[in-house]
Amino acid sequence: MRQKLVAGNWKMHGSRTFTRSLLAELAAAFPDGAPCDIAVCPPYPYLPEAVGCAAGSPILVGAQDISAEDEGAFTGEVSGGMLADLGCRFAIVGHSERRSLHGESDELVARKFGAAQRHGLVPILCVGESLEEREAERTEAVVGRQLKAVLDSAGIEAFSHAVIAYEPIWAIGTGRTASPEQAQAVHAFIRGLLRSENATISDFVKVLYGGSVKAANAADIFAMPDVDGGLVGGASLESAGFAGICRAAG
Ligand code: PEP
Repeated sequence: MRQKLVAGNWKMHGSRTFTRSLLAELAAAFPDGAPCDIAVCPPYPYLPEAVGCAAGSPILVGAQDISAEDEGAFTGEVSGGMLADLGCRFAIVGHSERRSLHGESDELVARKFGAAQRHGLVPILCVGESLEEREAERTEAVVGRQLKAVLDSAGIEAFSHAVIAYEPIWAIGTGRTASPEQAQAVHAFIRGLLRSENATISDFVKVLYGGSVKAANAADIFAMPDVDGGLVGGASLESAGFAGICRAAG
């Protein structure tokens, strides 16, 4: 039985005050321990505040991105070593907004995945298709290609220290969520692809669903056998709703 994980991606939202309040409210929501693994991924400047506020609570902190490089003349980049030094435990790689707005290729995402692991961070590898790709029945081809790029570069063993997030692009921030059955079908495909390389790792790896998850729809999606929690954007910015999603994963 895999322990579920709910991770909040704040995107470019927040402030120091917001970070303090949200973390305090979340910690207070679970006085008797967390119902599942919980992580928050604030913007880079608020990571130290988040790590400080989360100390002593069950909440872990992750970054929304990471440099593929470890050090050097890479203005504006933040390395895995820096994130680990701050106390981060996770780094999201390959979010669709990074892929589409910043032109990140499968190859760069694979290098970021490797960079996270080099520094002891657990990468949350995002994969997912656009609406056009889904309608052209290319979901498995796209998700398979994104996953294979990382498998080819990192190897199957690397997935024993990684999380995968299936995030259909058409469901991110749109209010339109995949049905539990649609999510399950792609999650089963992802797990099957890994199983062909290593059944033990495939059974162990957490595959999260992301795309307009809310407290109201989380339980149905999380009830699917291959869904191990969620990567939550908008609904992670409000503590009561986010806590409700975490409870649905309990
Ligand atoms: C995300 O940003 O990864 C996400 C899933 O966003 P939302 O929950 O707002 O759709």
